[in-house]
Amino acid sequence: MIQFKLVLLGDSSVGKSSIVTRFVKDQFDINKESTIGAAFLSQTIKLLDSETNDEVAVKFEIWDTAGQERYKSLAPMYYRNSNAAIVVYDITDANSLSKAVKWVNELKEKLGDDNDCVISLIGNKLDLINEDETKRAISRREGEEFAIENGLYFHEVSAKENIGIKDIFQEIGESLYNQH
Ligand code: GDP
Repeated sequence: MIQFKLVLLGDSSVGKSSIVTRFVKDQFDINKESTIGAAFLSQTIKLLDSETNDEVAVKFEIWDTAGQERYKSLAPMYYRNSNAAIVVYDITDANSLSKAVKWVNELKEKLGDDNDCVISLIGNKLDLINEDETKRAISRREGEEFAIENGLYFHEVSAKENIGIKDIFQEIGESLYNQH
């Protein structure tokens, strides 16, 4: 089976672990403890081979990194050999997009121009905005424009309400698989 390495990056508390837990276990835990260092999970999905139209299985090996500053030096160990990176921010937290931008810039700088790492920029906690639009701290356009300028996939999602989570991984899987 084809395997892809995937890393999650972003400030702490933006919902990286919640996104992975939703994708791998279809669960959400409001009281989840912070990740220490990094956590490893895997999940297999099915997708379509764009040439043969056959259904194929691909496995993601997922490294969920801790967002705290003190673990920052560990991150290169996880993203160096990654086929894909999901960089997460919290649309209700004004500072979290600039942290995400820093991660994207670090990835581009360290991985070099000719790498084919697929990068997705993800604004999480969409459910909070759907409840109360005044909680939005980062406009959709702000995230989207940065993503377009930098050639990233972009989505606003909710790990809590399971909005758009599976689609993130499906899109990455199809993109990576059909590159091969
Ligand atoms: P991480 O530090 O980036 O891994 O973030 P966590 O996954 O630990 O989530 C941090 C906090 O945000 C936890 O209290 C989660 O329950 C909460 N959270 C995560 N995703 C969502 C979401 O989609 N909606 C809401 N309302 N809360 C979320």
